[in-house]
Amino acid sequence: TRSIPGMLSRPQPSISFEFFPPKDDAGEQVLWDAIRRLESVRPDFVSVTYGAGGTSQDRTVRVTERIARETTLTPLAHLTAVGASVAALRQVIGMYAASGVRNVLALRGDPPGDPGGEWTPHPEGLNHATDLVSLVRSLGDFTIGVAAFPDVHPASPDLDHDVEILVKKADAGATFAITQMVFDADTYLRLRDRVAERRPLPITPGLMPVTNFKQVARMSQLMGTPLPRAVVERLERVAGDPAATREVGVQIATELAERMLSEGAPGLHFITMNRSTATLEVHRNLSL
Ligand code: FAD
Repeated sequence: TRSIPGMLSRPQPSISFEFFPPKDDAGEQVLWDAIRRLESVRPDFVSVTYGAGGTSQDRTVRVTERIARETTLTPLAHLTAVGASVAALRQVIGMYAASGVRNVLALRGDPPGDPGGEWTPHPEGLNHATDLVSLVRSLGDFTIGVAAFPDVHPASPDLDHDVEILVKKADAGATFAITQMVFDADTYLRLRDRVAERRPLPITPGLMPVTNFKQVARMSQLMGTPLPRAVVERLERVAGDPAATREVGVQIATELAERMLSEGAPGLHFITMNRSTATLEVHRNLSL
């Protein structure tokens, strides 16, 4: 069994890569090419996002189990409470445990369909990510991570509330947090410092090297993560030129990463979009 080691005591920043479950065989091939190339830099862990519906959730479980079985990598399984009874969640957690997955990112998830739609729990399910942290904790010896939102969660009234939620998540048993993708180091540092006053919860920033401006603009809107004006301007200047966009995306991610690491970020969690080139370039630039 491979657990994520404690993040507070380590001398080196932790490096991790996030993937999403592929839709079809071609997507699966692209993902496994990326996994094999990224394996070479020996990340501390890799994670697979949890799909919104039944078949995509099955693919998340399958890919995560295959990573545990067939690679040298340590998997972190994302899990959400969306549309699931407690019994169904127990079953998924049990499957992870049986295949040697010891690390879970416990999330509430979002209602399917309309972004920003009203959250309603499953009638026999859980209402908050904190409840899922408690459930996972009660079922075995897992290392549990949670989500954090430097730009404030879209349904949250303010940063103070988000800090309280992270304190609750830590008290329920989470030992680290990963943020939504960061494009403004100051918002990350503000949240990190506010939580640090309350609990020793390492918060690792999510970093996405932009390779496709339209895609990231759409994601930032969906996630409520505004893109800073300076970032938009740099990417707009190379609009329509994919190679130049990737180069600028890598530069932006490298600068952000350097700043956050120099300010003491415990690691970097790369959102890879199942590709490896841009992530490897940022990794190389940082000489980690
Ligand atoms: P919660 O902590 O439950 O928070 C949701 C809302 O409820 C917040 O506004 C919070 O302030 C409020 N809240 C929480 N607890 C309480 C309480 N006790 N009292 C009052 N209000 C409360 N989604 C997926 O579907 N699959 C994924 O794999 C996935 N991976 C992610 C990975 C990362 C690193 C991040 C940052 C997000 C990820 N998401 C994923 C998205 C996430 O599920 C959504 O952003 C979701 O809206 C919030 O999830 P949460 O775990 O923070 O929920």
